[in-house]
Amino acid sequence: MKVTLHNLTKKYPGRGKGAKTEVIAVNDLNVEIPDGKLIGLLGPSGCGKSTTLNLLSGLQPPTSGRIFFGDEDVTDLTPQERGVGLVFQNYALYPHLTVRQNILFPLQNLKGDARLPKEVMEQKALEAAKLVQIDGLMERKPAELSGGQQQRVAIARALVKMPRILLLDEPLSNLDARLRLQTREEIRRIQRETKITTVFVTHDQEEAMSISDQIVVMKDGVIQQIGKPQEVYDQPKNLFVAKFLGTPPINVFAGQVKGGRLFIGDADVLAAPGVTDQPVFAAVRPEGFELGENAPLSCALTGVEVMGRDITVVATHPDCENTAIRAIISAENQVDAGADTVRFALKPHKVFLFAREDGARLL
Ligand code: ADP
Ligand code: MG
Repeated sequence: MKVTLHNLTKKYPGRGKGAKTEVIAVNDLNVEIPDGKLIGLLGPSGCGKSTTLNLLSGLQPPTSGRIFFGDEDVTDLTPQERGVGLVFQNYALYPHLTVRQNILFPLQNLKGDARLPKEVMEQKALEAAKLVQIDGLMERKPAELSGGQQQRVAIARALVKMPRILLLDEPLSNLDARLRLQTREEIRRIQRETKITTVFVTHDQEEAMSISDQIVVMKDGVIQQIGKPQEVYDQPKNLFVAKFLGTPPINVFAGQVKGGRLFIGDADVLAAPGVTDQPVFAAVRPEGFELGENAPLSCALTGVEVMGRDITVVATHPDCENTAIRAIISAENQVDAGADTVRFALKPHKVFLFAREDGARLL
């Protein structure tokens, strides 16, 4: 099922005495989610991810704009009528019901013609449980399950009606690191098997990058960029997106373009063809540095971390806004950890130039 958000806006009124400042949680969103894909909705806390999901599910009405599932305008339909499956951060299972009863619940709630025979309901519950591999735990209560198992039950419950759209709001946040990894692989597998169009909300860029067919990066209710994870990483449209994606984070230098060259301090570091003379931010991915005795960018060396395949060179530079520059280079390089300075050349395709004023991409 293709999903289209058309000029979607959600405003919340200001609260309290004299609070006139309304919040624009979602600001004129236009997104087309292709059928059968998993979309990662990514951005910092408060950027409007949950609001977007609530609008998609029908839990909240938009202030303006329309939502389409396929060609059908669903904007005025209830969550039940839309046929969405929802999973939240806190599993929200019924504590007094068993796993089986929890998964059955949405089916038992079907009314009239939609109601299924009891054996069919049981069969569907078992299939959903098998899909998330908890079919061996059907008679347990939620309190007798681990966090990861509880979240699987929540996913099975969202899948049991075979929703047209699956919506997941930070579903892994309550799990420990290992379970988080494992469960995200599971979600990916289930999504591939069922081919249900899925929106996965997270503030964790690594999670979104690893699981999504496409990511939608948001800030302050506004979409910053939409694309395949690697495309967005390789071609960020603005400084915000460049800084939001990647671990270790991108290294941001205050620089200057003069006569088609990028200068950091007095060092002429790179060609900047077609960029007019102006102050810029030069953002360098950790893998964008190369060592060289006569390389242009001189930094103060603070440490060398050897991690098997790679070496991380930790350094500082007065024009870099990161407290520590982290440069990842191949372990084949020799780095004298006792030296005071280290000199870098920059790989052009790993350096992005942004306008100082508004962070828009220049090169
Ligand atoms: P996210 O899920 O990305 O953390 P939310 O969608 O929850 O962000 O919130 C987006 C913005 O809308 C925030 O500024 C938040 O404070 C505000 N907001 C969310 N829900 C409400 C509400 N019910 N009333 C007023 N403001 C809200
Ligand atoms: Mg949220």
